[in-house]
Amino acid sequence: MGINRSLIEQISYASQNSEAIAASHRLTVTTDSRRGEQNSLFVPLVGERFDGHDHLLSAIDNGAVATLWQRDKALSKEVPADFPIFYVEDTLQALQELAHLYRKAIDPTVIAITGSNGKTTTKDMVASTLEATFKLHKTEGNLNNHIGVPLTLLAMPEDCEVCVLEMGMNHFGEIALLSRIAEPDIGLITNIGESHIEFLGSREGIAKAKSEIIEGMSPDGLLIVDGDEPLLDALRHERVNAVLCGYGEANDFVISDAKGNQEGSAFKVNGKSYTIPLLGAHNVKNAAYAIAVANHLKLSGERIFARLKALKHTAMRLECVAGKAGTLIINDAYNASPTSMKAAIETIKALSDFPNKVIVLGDMYELGPDEEALHREVASVISAPITHVVTLGERAQWIFEACQQEQHPSITLKHFSSKDKVLAYLQTFLSEDTVMLFKASRLAGLEALVERLKNEE
Ligand code: ATP
Ligand code: MG
Repeated sequence: MGINRSLIEQISYASQNSEAIAASHRLTVTTDSRRGEQNSLFVPLVGERFDGHDHLLSAIDNGAVATLWQRDKALSKEVPADFPIFYVEDTLQALQELAHLYRKAIDPTVIAITGSNGKTTTKDMVASTLEATFKLHKTEGNLNNHIGVPLTLLAMPEDCEVCVLEMGMNHFGEIALLSRIAEPDIGLITNIGESHIEFLGSREGIAKAKSEIIEGMSPDGLLIVDGDEPLLDALRHERVNAVLCGYGEANDFVISDAKGNQEGSAFKVNGKSYTIPLLGAHNVKNAAYAIAVANHLKLSGERIFARLKALKHTAMRLECVAGKAGTLIINDAYNASPTSMKAAIETIKALSDFPNKVIVLGDMYELGPDEEALHREVASVISAPITHVVTLGERAQWIFEACQQEQHPSITLKHFSSKDKVLAYLQTFLSEDTVMLFKASRLAGLEALVERLKNEE
């Protein structure tokens, strides 16, 4: 990317000279005038409904000691005359350039994680595996876009050794931009699903957009990908070193003997045993990615084993919750796509010990013109030992209809139009014999049902 070096020089010059700035080790960078960050450089961004340039005075009140400023914006007369202002053509681009230069200056090992599903989970697993060995910095929550990635880089402490970044996207070119900013040493593509298919045309389009992760990587970089996804096969021949992880025998890291239970999953990777306190074949695969990263960074087998065993669970992602009357609730209501919904259903099917296996499915959003077909297709994985299917919402009704057509005699199907009715129905079979899965897009708000059904003691 075109780097505006003189901008950086001006800022570092100011930061050595201004009294206010000299009091701190270095500037923090903020785009939010309300954050109250002391000694911060304010970067006013221009959005569709807001303009950060309107909030400089509040940023100054909250601790900003310098600001970037887009040349075409008028400056309020109330701004103190000696306040350091750095004029740029475009504040967003300047933020991205600053992040790139800071990344080069600190020069940690950068690990960039993209994919349709599993980015946050894999980011947290990779970070937990490495954080006892390296000074590590990672994306907070889901700050994975063209603003979040630069801000994450700029928040790195100066002694950072490993930086783990989540990279998200909706359109072509976005991952390429993020990769050029971050120059990853290790790129990781968790999977190819259907999210944002409305902008990318097809699953092939999605695979192409994710593969942009190599744009900013050097030829000695390592690319770790889902080796069970044929659409990613071509990456084997790209100019970076590709490592494939998955269940297929041809992978470099081969997962075998995976078993789920109430405590989590036990599995092997290249014959060596591991456990994680998480359910789901996809989480086992995410753990295999973390093993591949840790292996590359030369962690011992014992340490990798111990760190994975001690992973913390993230709320609402296949989270096991104690329900009323001994029911096991699996809360996966954080978000949903067809791939992740099918994965969650497979997870419930693989759990032994529960005669009643109830799946509660809600609407999935942002699926584009094929949304009806993508909902209906979920029915293809709904079979015994699932015993009850409960759908809620207009879109989820397509899943219900498709299940009706499949005609499984051992499965009871119910469709409801309100959460209260779902709740009344679910309350009839709370017991130790029941496991209930809740899965939908976040907007469907199925976690409200989990709240009502969980054990209060
Ligand atoms: P977002 O795009 O919202 O940031 P994300 O890619 O960060 O999502 P996570 O939040 O980690 O994804 O997980 C979302 C859901 O995706 C999980 O609840 C799980 O059902 C599913 N999932 C996780 N890992 C995988 C995987 N490797 N393959 C397929 N599905 C997965
Ligand atoms: Mg995420």
